[in-house]
Amino acid sequence: MNGFGFIFASANLSKLKRKNAMAIIITDECINCGACEPECPNTAIYEGADDWRYKDGTSLEGSVVLTNGNEVDADEAQEPVSDEIYYIVPDKCTECKGFHDEPQCAAVCPVDCCIPDEDVVETEEELLAKQRFMHPDD
Ligand code: SF4
Ligand code: SF4
Repeated sequence: MNGFGFIFASANLSKLKRKNAMAIIITDECINCGACEPECPNTAIYEGADDWRYKDGTSLEGSVVLTNGNEVDADEAQEPVSDEIYYIVPDKCTECKGFHDEPQCAAVCPVDCCIPDEDVVETEEELLAKQRFMHPDD
């Protein structure tokens, strides 16, 4: 689940005139080469079976309230999204907005398995807000 909670309403898209984008997901074509992991400015990429934390690579610590109002413990280990292949945490992926012009994981992946996730659609403004939330001092 995307904790930042944006619901995609395609019927309202043109009316709202929002620029929508999709989070990145790693498909099962992944060969576990590890090239993408160090490139992520949000530490949103983890090796399969590894736990993840909101605090990893961000300024978050302790109890924090996400932009959707949910309260989480940034220090708490979270269940891996995949046990088999590298995975991306949607809550931490900003499509590299605020850092780079394009998703760095997709740029370095040798088998092009970092692709847009049609189930996680966010506006550019929401992605930038997420980036500022995780990195308020950058
Ligand atoms: Fe990380 Fe950028 Fe890839 Fe998202 S698109 S997982 S922020 S490298
Ligand atoms: Fe998998 Fe591509 Fe990342 Fe390598 S760069 S671990 S193939 S997603």
